[in-house]
Amino acid sequence: MNLSDWILANELAVRLGFFFGVFILMALWEILLPRRRLSIAKATRWLSNMTLVVLNSLVLRLLFPVAAVGAAIYAEEKAWGLFNQFDIPDLLSVVICVVVLDLAIYLQHLMVHHVPVFWRLHRVHHADLDYDLTTGTRFHTLEMILSMLIKFAVIALLGPPLVAVVIFEVVLNITAMFNHGNVYIAEKIDRVLRLFVVTPDMHRVHHSVHPALTHSNFGFSLPWWDRLFGTYRAQPLEGHTEMQIGLPDYRNPQQANRLDGMLMMPFKSPQA
Ligand SMILES: [Zn+2]
Ligand SMILES: [Zn+2]
Repeated sequence: MNLSDWILANELAVRLGFFFGVFILMALWEILLPRRRLSIAKATRWLSNMTLVVLNSLVLRLLFPVAAVGAAIYAEEKAWGLFNQFDIPDLLSVVICVVVLDLAIYLQHLMVHHVPVFWRLHRVHHADLDYDLTTGTRFHTLEMILSMLIKFAVIALLGPPLVAVVIFEVVLNITAMFNHGNVYIAEKIDRVLRLFVVTPDMHRVHHSVHPALTHSNFGFSLPWWDRLFGTYRAQPLEGHTEMQIGLPDYRNPQQANRLDGMLMMPFKSPQA
């Protein structure tokens, strides 16, 4: 069995293993050292957010059984994409591709904020009235499908090695749970950490109700793009414990934090 076959055969197990492992660690951290007090009952929110995750996983598996890794194998077979044209040392191409894929996610995030029809979908992520690790996995099903199609296009253009795609996906999965964590990290440590990775305090700014802050800090894993492209805001206006999370127009928990409200949100106006 060669490396591609092994990755294809075990990709789901590897991803699920990392998902549940990190999920449990973050959930414990949130209980032991929370950053903020949650405003609505955790059980209700978690049930909605996690049901959406399960629904999204099922829909994506049905629509795209082989997902991003399959796309990378296909691109390699067809010799599509930049990295399938040249003989670049493995390690170098893996590093470059992981970084480029992260840049693509940053640009995609910028786009879903600024194109009105996509913002309708992405609002679901922002409407969560609280902020914890389950916020990091809550995206409208149509946004998940859009992300997958964009990922296919990027992979076809880039032609990344399989390993790069798996590393990128696993890292993104871990960092999304980490940087949405309602966890306390001392300011001194956060300051150093956010030079290398998007921290919970850095991404929480992106979930502030103030529009200027909502449209900042778009990075998910690498924090450099925001500084490079001028979208970086260091801290929320009222501080982390006092800041209001969510969107100004979506304050009704029935709409913002119930599964039916979340799924219908792109097609409905805000409920009082
Ligand atoms: Zn966003
Ligand atoms: Zn977020």
